[in-house]
Amino acid sequence: MKVLHVAAECAPIVKVGGLADVVGSLPIALSKLGVDASVALPYYKGIQISKERLIHCYTVTLLGKQKTNNNSTIQQFDNEVIEVYQTQLADSKVPVYLFKNEKYLSDGPYSLVDATGGTSEQKLARAKEEARFSFFNLAVAEFLKKKSSLQEDFLELYDVVHCHDYHAALLCRDLKSQKSNIKSILTIHNLANKGTKKIGLKMGIETADFVTTVSPQYAKEILTPEFGKSLAVILQQRNQEGKLKGVLNGIDTSYWDPLRDDLIDRRYRGDPGDQGDFKQANKEFLIKQLELDYTFGDKVPVFGFVGRLSKQKGLDILVPAWRKFSKKHHAHLVILGAGNPKLASEILDQEVEASELAGRPEVAFIDKFDEKLAHQIYAGADFLLMPSKFEPCGLSQMIAMRYGTVPIVRDVGGLHDSVRDGQTGLVFKEYTVKSLTEVLMKASRIFNSQFEIFNKIREAGMAGDFSWDKSAKEYLEIYDKICQD
Ligand code: ADP
Repeated sequence: MKVLHVAAECAPIVKVGGLADVVGSLPIALSKLGVDASVALPYYKGIQISKERLIHCYTVTLLGKQKTNNNSTIQQFDNEVIEVYQTQLADSKVPVYLFKNEKYLSDGPYSLVDATGGTSEQKLARAKEEARFSFFNLAVAEFLKKKSSLQEDFLELYDVVHCHDYHAALLCRDLKSQKSNIKSILTIHNLANKGTKKIGLKMGIETADFVTTVSPQYAKEILTPEFGKSLAVILQQRNQEGKLKGVLNGIDTSYWDPLRDDLIDRRYRGDPGDQGDFKQANKEFLIKQLELDYTFGDKVPVFGFVGRLSKQKGLDILVPAWRKFSKKHHAHLVILGAGNPKLASEILDQEVEASELAGRPEVAFIDKFDEKLAHQIYAGADFLLMPSKFEPCGLSQMIAMRYGTVPIVRDVGGLHDSVRDGQTGLVFKEYTVKSLTEVLMKASRIFNSQFEIFNKIREAGMAGDFSWDKSAKEYLEIYDKICQD
């Protein structure tokens, strides 16, 4: 089984959010099951890659006019040359093909982290993205033709192209319209980012041989108008055909591993007796590093947040809930996030305000993408906040649990599927300031006066299985099924 994953992000090469984690780890898990998996990615400038590991392997030429079978022009570009380089995913033999073209593919992955709104900046960002990813999809389609026509050792046919999100959805349609033997599967990581009419999720949902999304609960939610919006009807149709399934994401447990993590101050020694010391050391390190108040040592709970500052992530309820909660409760809040500047400034205000009022800094806001600090927060916080409005899967809660940080999540999407209230985390239902404030108070109560319960939840989270083992098998079953259809 030969499968090409096509995506806009892939960790550790280029990462904005969870999509990168999945594309960087699922192909490795699949290759352990015997799948010949590889990845196709645009070669953005500033990509994290060592030049020694790069081999130039193909030149693909895109002629100015691309036509579908019925002769209608689907996209027009000047003649362009794309140089394809090959590298491998870290600690694996999984090939990654990087598509290089100065004009279309060097900026990116996105022009804005949250380009879903109607401002002129967001519209421009969408137009640029459309041109980038249409071009990328056409280049991959051409690359696939090249591979199949040459038929040399390394150049056998692919069985399946696994397209991730709208950035690769166009390929599903192209393969269908070319009557290609290659089957396509589209995975929806986030329906909020549906792309445009010319290149968007809709065409992928309609034409892919199978559609998946990243958790079973989200697969149900997107069938409703509330979550599925304009795509709910077509998703219902695919569901009725038996062509839609939710497969819960896993995480790369050898990368997100508290026993071997190079980026944290103190590693976990592996036996439950060490959990307290592991957390204490990393918590002290985190608080001191961020220059927060340490007068009361580790007695004050630390609430962390690591995520894109997009509306989805619930910061509009988090900030007011925190204001209410922190008036009466002593606690630290550490927010690491990049993205929406309006949300960012609101949080910054909050940080300054809290520090000034209390006379001791209790809130830290770090407005950037910082891989190392993310690890340090997962290791050093007591709780991880994910008050998401919607959450297709969410990986941060799984990472947090592995590092002994108790997730506080809203009962939605993949959070519903991965966190059990009172057992591996704390779950609240309503997307309101009131519900979030209540769960913050509950967390504080458990931390301060029911530490055995807190410890039990922490232990259960650390013992959980968040690997790809089960879900990679589910993907393999889907590949087998569509190849037999
Ligand atoms: P999403 O896919 O919506 O971005 P997930 O929870 O699935 O959310 O995945 C988020 C991933 O991105 C996690 O690996 C998280 O650690 C990482 N991440 C998000 N924001 C940052 C940031 N500012 N700095 C470092 N890592 C981040």
